[in-house]
Amino acid sequence: MYIGHFAPALAASAATPDAPRLGTLFVAAQLVDLAFFAFVIMGVENMRVVPGIIAMNPMDLYHMPYTHSLLGATLWGLGFGLAVLAVTRNLTAGIWAAVVVASHWLLDLLVHRPDLTLDGGPQKLGLGLWDYPLLAIPLELALIGLGFWLFLRNSRGPVGPPLILVAVMLLFQAVNWFAPQPEEMSIALPLVALLSYAILVALARWVGTTRRHRRAAGLAMARYRR
Ligand SMILES: [Zn+2]
Repeated sequence: MYIGHFAPALAASAATPDAPRLGTLFVAAQLVDLAFFAFVIMGVENMRVVPGIIAMNPMDLYHMPYTHSLLGATLWGLGFGLAVLAVTRNLTAGIWAAVVVASHWLLDLLVHRPDLTLDGGPQKLGLGLWDYPLLAIPLELALIGLGFWLFLRNSRGPVGPPLILVAVMLLFQAVNWFAPQPEEMSIALPLVALLSYAILVALARWVGTTRRHRRAAGLAMARYRR
């Protein structure tokens, strides 16, 4: 799962004006992947390229106990939620940040081959939808479509910035799905992944500055009228 992970970030932003900023939520949505690719570069966690291992990509994610176990993702969520709480002094913001981080594992569970764990142990989990492009592609598009629909419905501001964000996300996703797949492992793989996330986070951060939650916007209006 790639852009589908951002659906919970968009939904959290739509849910309440107290949610963290959109850029922060985009970091939350991919926090365990950001950590995973950084760990791959450092040699703490590992992947290799095995062409044909599953229909939609050649990644054999054989060692990721700290980022892609349920326990690990939950702890990353707790840590990130506490950091957001410390900065914003807003419990609702902290809780949403933690929930969005943890949502990553559940969405990965749908598409990954059995390479996820509960606690880093030998039992591997994954429902393997990446073997069924005709299910996985519409699922991911539906998730991100729903996320943007909620976000646009519940925020006020110009529509251009979110459209640019959607366009770049779809472009990156198309490359991820349809470009020729790497034949062997190289440092470029985690670096390109990290770069793509950085671009999407920067765009989301910008979009977040152009739109306000409809309830916050309504309050500002009411105050102005008085
Ligand atoms: Zn992941």
